Amino acid sequence: MKRSLFAALAAGAFLALSAVQVAAQTEADQLKNLKPAKYVFLFIGDGMSLPQRMMAEEFSRSTTGKGLTINAMPQQSYSKTSSASNFITDSAASGTAIACGEKTNNGRIGMDAEGKKNLESVAEVAKKNGRAIGILTSITINHATPASFYAHNVSRDNYYDIGLDLVKSGFEYFGGGGLQGNRSGDNDIYKIAEKAGYTVAYKDEVPKVDLKKADKLFVRGHNGQLPYAIDKPADEWGLAEYTQQCIDFLMLKNKPFFVMVEGGNIDHHGHSNDAGSSLRETMEMDRAVSVIMDFAKKHPNDTLVVVTGDHETGGLTLGFANTQYESSIYLLGNQKCSSDEFKNKVNRLADSILGPRRFGPPGRNNNNQNNQDNAEEKTIKFDDIKPLITENFGLVFDNQEAPRGNNANVNLRSADNNARRKLNLVLSKSEQDRIEEAFNRQFPNGKRAGGGGDAVANTVVAIFDNKCSVGWTSGAHTALPVDTSAYGVNSNVFYGMYENSDIAKKLKAIVSVPVK
Ligand SMILES: [Zn+2]
Repeated sequence: MKRSLFAALAAGAFLALSAVQVAAQTEADQLKNLKPAKYVFLFIGDGMSLPQRMMAEEFSRSTTGKGLTINAMPQQSYSKTSSASNFITDSAASGTAIACGEKTNNGRIGMDAEGKKNLESVAEVAKKNGRAIGILTSITINHATPASFYAHNVSRDNYYDIGLDLVKSGFEYFGGGGLQGNRSGDNDIYKIAEKAGYTVAYKDEVPKVDLKKADKLFVRGHNGQLPYAIDKPADEWGLAEYTQQCIDFLMLKNKPFFVMVEGGNIDHHGHSNDAGSSLRETMEMDRAVSVIMDFAKKHPNDTLVVVTGDHETGGLTLGFANTQYESSIYLLGNQKCSSDEFKNKVNRLADSILGPRRFGPPGRNNNNQNNQDNAEEKTIKFDDIKPLITENFGLVFDNQEAPRGNNANVNLRSADNNARRKLNLVLSKSEQDRIEEAFNRQFPNGKRAGGGGDAVANTVVAIFDNKCSVGWTSGAHTALPVDTSAYGVNSNVFYGMYENSDIAKKLKAIVSVPVK
């Protein structure tokens, strides 16, 4: 009896081992038997894990009847995101892992954990193999994620040197947001890029660039990042338009290519715990993926599309204590602007009531003294700010139509949609008290507080998200694995659960296969 149990355990252990070996063998075989993929695309949603994808999916499905393109991709797998130094990665270490295939410390760009050795990125391998390269992002182009594909620096904060690496890379297309940490005069990186043969274009010039005449392109919609998707004017180019321009340009090169597109601001709205802005950023990146899926349908035997995230941000959960089994993610559609823009709106309203903000100590300038004295008498009241909150979030104060108080005793299931919408957005007494308390912190005695905090906007967005059945647990990143999706040639190698550094290993092997 004992002996047969031991034998069974030993056999089990042997079987388990051989299963791992078989998996490793299968993967090695797959990477050996890769097909030529002429056009390779990698999308990275910064701060995008499954909750972000599922929130955008549910919002999109309930408002347009259609889910996300990225969630419908045939190959879905999981990537672990930890860095060499931390269980919770930053964007530099995860960008480097995804770009170069090696885990490094938080903060490093394209360098090993010790900060001694440069790591080669998939974009650099692709270039060596005769491919044209495109790097695009909605945030600044020398920020950690895009930088990991062309730069090598011990610190992500060395923006200027990273910008110089951008020019040195000689990659064919850089597009989306502009540089941060640039310098002026002869040290202006845009000028250095022009001298190195780049056609540099800004704002309205970008759509007018003659793609046939340009050798390499460095185009930006703004000097910093592109506007948030939720705030972006409809006629302004977003990630999808830059992606279209990039492939139009690279197709003229008659070369195979590798393109990385980053949806950079999903992360930012995760840090600010702003669900309505986050999901629109995910949908904006999904729109760019759709551009490539249309391209892929025209080149079905030549195209690989991979979509991943670099980490989760915010500890997003789809469900909140009070909402129980009701989901109201569609209510996030009531949000009209980002929390950052709402902070500006609150301050502009305060300026219109209290007069413009004073800088420096009072009484320095006698000419202004009278105006300031008048301004000092004015005060802003909680009632002044309520219409702004209702207008931008649909939140209802002192409701006359629906019963005031918590919604818990209302049968939501039997209420029709309009009634549910109103009931869910009616502020309870305690929620109104929280906003009023925040107002009194930001505007004590109806005046501006010295610190100039944004308590009103932060509190309104927190309450609004919870009423829309969304919760957050962190203002930073979390260690949740991310979804890695793939479509097209060699997409079968993206399966199972693996380290984010394996993405680069797979992609490096793929871009190294010669293309006729
Ligand atoms: Zn972040």
